[in-house]
Amino acid sequence: MNWIKNRILSFVQKAKDKFKKDRPSKADQEKSLWLNCPSCNQMQLKEDLKNNFNVCKCMHHFDLDPETRFKNLLFDDGNFELIDCPSWSSPDPLNMEINGKKFIDKYKNYQNKTGQQSALLIAHGKIGGLKTVAVGYNFAFGGAAFSQRENEHFLAAAQFAIENDIELFLSVYQSGGMSVYGNIHSLKSMSVCQMVHTMLKKKNIVNVGVLGSKITGGTFVNVFANDFLFSESPKNTDQLFSGKRVSASVRSSDNTEMPSDFGEGYFLQKHGMIDGCFSSRFEMKKKIVDLTNVLLKKPEAQVKKESNVKVDKSLQSVS
Ligand SMILES: [Zn+2]
Repeated sequence: MNWIKNRILSFVQKAKDKFKKDRPSKADQEKSLWLNCPSCNQMQLKEDLKNNFNVCKCMHHFDLDPETRFKNLLFDDGNFELIDCPSWSSPDPLNMEINGKKFIDKYKNYQNKTGQQSALLIAHGKIGGLKTVAVGYNFAFGGAAFSQRENEHFLAAAQFAIENDIELFLSVYQSGGMSVYGNIHSLKSMSVCQMVHTMLKKKNIVNVGVLGSKITGGTFVNVFANDFLFSESPKNTDQLFSGKRVSASVRSSDNTEMPSDFGEGYFLQKHGMIDGCFSSRFEMKKKIVDLTNVLLKKPEAQVKKESNVKVDKSLQSVS
């Protein structure tokens, strides 16, 4: 019955080829002026989305690069200074090759595309008057996979915070996890991150983590080292360890179904994995500044002088 099998396989291959041909390529999608929103299923003009910091009218949050976020939504008057990645740190200590192509060349392409030194953009400056170090994970930089180089960049940020009396250490996460090309050199950063956050706490630096969409794997483990953890939006998806398809496959082995909102912001809040969800990325700054001022027990007069944010005294008395 081999001929039946061959006929079926040939039919499947033809269908696959046709489907592939009819779908716009990645390059076509990048050139297009329009983007389909996966939440409301409506076509949106990319220019309109850009003007609204990649938030759709239905409040679906698309990825936002760290530089745009830092300039427009976080640092006071868009003023900040970058913290450099140590030049000696390598993203590719094992000299990996994939299908004859060197991984280091791929990494250099990510650098050229984003203008960043590593998958992290790290800056210091004032947010709501608070002396802050902010760490932004750029998903466009190879899925913001965490290699030895990102680990060293992160350590440089923590060292700066500890040596410069920083009040707030803020991380905004969008990452696919640890880089497989770095092997154990990437994985070791998981324990390093845990230790670093403990050192920040000992210095009374408030450290807050914010989850964007798509934060999985080892980086998702790291986020739990923060004092406080929020989702950027209740509807943000793929905030989980092993990815939705892998988790669904595990559940299917015992014939149980995945909850439809598994890995979404509100799901994580409901199950006590995070402290809460912002309604959108637009309210993130005010809420974090409020919280940090309360935790640092800043007098209202001082806060007024430094920013426009009001301190809730009743919260301060119970903290
Ligand atoms: Zn939408």
